[in-house]
Amino acid sequence: MQQFAYKSYRRPLHTSLRTAHGRWREREGIIVRLEDESGRVGFGEIAPIPWFGTETLVEAEELCRKFGDKVEAAMLDNVPERFGCVRFALAQARGPQDGSAAPNRLPVAALLPAGHEAVSILKGKLEAGFLAFKWKVGVGAVDDELVLFDDLLAELPAHAKLRLDANGAWNHRQAARWLERCADRPVEFIEQPVAPAEEDTLLGLAEDFPVLLALDESVVRLAEARRWQGLGWPGLFVIKPALAGPLAELTEWISSTKADVVISSAIETVLGRSAILHAALSGTLTQRALGFGPGAVFGDRRWDGPVIGPVADASCIAVNPGEELWIALN
Ligand code: MG
Repeated sequence: MQQFAYKSYRRPLHTSLRTAHGRWREREGIIVRLEDESGRVGFGEIAPIPWFGTETLVEAEELCRKFGDKVEAAMLDNVPERFGCVRFALAQARGPQDGSAAPNRLPVAALLPAGHEAVSILKGKLEAGFLAFKWKVGVGAVDDELVLFDDLLAELPAHAKLRLDANGAWNHRQAARWLERCADRPVEFIEQPVAPAEEDTLLGLAEDFPVLLALDESVVRLAEARRWQGLGWPGLFVIKPALAGPLAELTEWISSTKADVVISSAIETVLGRSAILHAALSGTLTQRALGFGPGAVFGDRRWDGPVIGPVADASCIAVNPGEELWIALN
């Protein structure tokens, strides 16, 4: 039997984010606290993105309410798979909290906005030392964006890498035009060229063109990544661990199947992010640049944690940030 408690949070985003579903202005989530019989306390973060395909905040809260203030381990073990965010948080709260030193370093990909703004932002990010970039495409007309694409590539040093993210916005014909154009250019991969429902198109594109493709919206939870792997998906998986389920399950899947994975943020707070970065920098989840922004999404150091630069290392991981956030929510 464990003592269970939770608190909901709602934080405005310092800069609202443009998404396929309009402007995202605030982050809502839940912090959970578990205390076992020996008095060991752990915290975890539930950070859903319902429009991305996760459970809703209301559903997560309902589940937390059902747990009550005393909960059996079996009940925590048996949360249904579709509650990927709740499962991530419970595993985090039950796992080690000490934040033992993470020995590795990984580059971080800087985000370039859609449209012509990308070129000036790229110059600034290069000056700041970034060498991996992700550009949002599929927002304007293909012809216009292909011109911008050449402008961006002209600024890109030989050792830098560009990834494109279409967020499923293209149709087959538009995707084919882009993939053709990317074939002989320094593109690391293209994320979600067409919508998740277009499974045959995704598999066909991956087969027909040499550029690597990555699934993102298609693989919200680990179970979906496993299913695509079973279909013979030859490309990458963009995984937002905060949505995918327990970190240990993700780690196990990657190490046992050698899946090629990009680890990415779900705009979680320092609590969820520290656990994810700890796993990414301790093990061998990925060698690819992390999809984590600078970390200043809330404009509040307590919630943002350490600022992340062009290279993520142990200094980006907050040690036991749960307690401070828990108190801040009183
Ligand atoms: Mg994406």
